[in-house]
Parts: sequence; structure tokens; C-alpha cells
Amino acid sequence: MTIGHDVASLIALARPCRRIVAFTGAGISTESGIPDYRGPGGVWERNAPPTLSDFRENAQTRLTYWHERRARYPALRDTDPNAGHFALARLQSVGRLTHIITQNIDGLHQKAGSPAKTTIELHGTAHKVRCLDCFASWPAAAIQARLAQEAIPGCANCGGMLRAATVLFGQTLPDDALRRTFDVARASDLVLVVGSSLVVQPAARIPEFAVAAGARLAIINNEPTPLDGIADVVVRASAGLVLSALANALLDQVEATGSG
Ligand code: NAD
Ligand code: ZN
Repeated sequence: MTIGHDVASLIALARPCRRIVAFTGAGISTESGIPDYRGPGGVWERNAPPTLSDFRENAQTRLTYWHERRARYPALRDTDPNAGHFALARLQSVGRLTHIITQNIDGLHQKAGSPAKTTIELHGTAHKVRCLDCFASWPAAAIQARLAQEAIPGCANCGGMLRAATVLFGQTLPDDALRRTFDVARASDLVLVVGSSLVVQPAARIPEFAVAAGARLAIINNEPTPLDGIADVVVRASAGLVLSALANALLDQVEATGSG
């Protein structure tokens, strides 16, 4: 195993692989200006995200939530992807990366050009708002417009409670996303973990599952993770730089051989 700033080892590992899957976390978006969960500044949405039962039972929690969302959503909406998101999208576009599984809710992979079909948002998205009761959903912009008049918007369908379509701590992950994720992980020959502390469960079990099913593992993260010990390569460096170098190397290979 190699641990360090060794991008050459990562490129050598990835070169022969044909079913590469990226597993991304908050760390891929810090270079776009969105703080990660563990880093200084805390989470994007709230410093201490409410639990679902707190949100349902407490009108003050909902009031504070919508007040903050009204003030903060525009900045997220206007955030641009960075070199790391673009590098993964380039690899997807030539078939060198089959899927992106992301824990992020910021939508930056799709903004960089990653197809929605092969980009699985395990924890949902901040760019939609969903009814907790009838599950109808709306683009965030439609609800944002209502916030000019309404302190706590309700579901236009059933009068139920609305919230961003993201998974809260303590909530189970959507079955469909989870099933697809395990299928993708099982079929992969290399999982590239990017910018994840790998401590949020059950998401963090996915790379481990892929390894047990025969995949190689590379981890690109600024700090140690609990899976470093089973990784083939660990690169402790900035995601944007490392992924750009990887994409350049693998795309040169595509051009040289005429195949992906
Ligand atoms: P995390 O915050 O627990 O870990 C991020 C890791 O990325 C850290 O270990 C950090 O050292 C590393 N990192 C930060 N910037 C980096 C960079 N430029 N290059 C390489 N590594 C870098 O993130 P997580 O594992 O994704 O868990 C956080 C949870 O909070 C997730 O469930 C996620 O849904 C949510 N969250 C999402 C966002 C977002 O959508 N952008 C932001 C914050 C939190
Ligand atoms: Zn409803």
C-alpha cells in the first residue's frame, strides 16, 4: 500500500481498471467554498442539523430552518463546481468512470456535467423541496419564491410539512438509491473515495463492501480515514489537483489507444 502524495501510484492503479466508481463526500466541494462537516465552519445547512422528529414536532425548529434556508440557499444555488467535479465529469463522459456515488447534497457533480442517471445522491439534494407526508416535490426555486410571503411554507397538495429533499441524521436512506449503490459497488473494479471522512454510516460501508466484492480501493483525502488500512493507494492531498492529474492521465490513454 502507498500512503502519501503519490499521484503516480494512483494513476498506475487506475489505468487498467474499466469499471471505476467515485464515492465522494463533503471534501470534494470545499474547493468550491462549501465547508465540510468536520472542518471549521461546520455543515452547510445548520451547525447542528435537526432530527426529523424535532422538525416535525417543533414549530420553532421549522421557523428557524426556513428562515436560514431563505437566507442561505441562494449562495448554494450560485456555487460553482471546482476542478475535482469537472475532472470526474470528464472521466464519465469518456466512459472511464461508470458512476459517481455522492454523499453531498449540493448538486455540484451535475452542475459540472455529470449525468443525473449515473450520479447517485445517497443523501438527497438541497435543490428540491419535498413534502414529508405525501412526498410531492418541487424545485427549490419555486419554494424559495414563496418564502418572500410565507415564514413556513406548506405542501400545496396536502397541506403537509415541507423540507429540503435531504436525508437527516437518524433517517434511513432511500431504498432505491441504496440498492443501486450496492449494485454499482458490486460491479466496480476500483472505488475512488474522494473527500470523505468515511465515518457517516451506512454510506461509509459502501467502499468496504466493494472491496469485499473484489474491487481495488483508492482514497484521496486530506486526513486519515478508517479505511486507509485496506486501501491500495491513499493520496493525502487536495482533491482538485489529484483528480485533474488523474483525468489528464486517463484521458491521454483514451486518446492514445482510441478506447476507454
Ligand atoms: P466529512 O466532512 O465528514 O469529511 C470530509 C473529509 O474531506 C475530511 O476528512 C477532510 O479532511 C477532507 N477534505 C476536505 N477538503 C478536502 C480537499 N479539498 N481535498 C481532499 N480532502 C478534503 O464529509 P463526509 O464524509 O461527506 O460526511 C459529511 C456528511 O455531511 C455527509 O453525510 C454529507 O451528506 C453532509 N454534508 C454535505 C455537504 C455538501 O453537500 N457539500 C457539506 C457538508 C456536509
Ligand atoms: Zn403533501
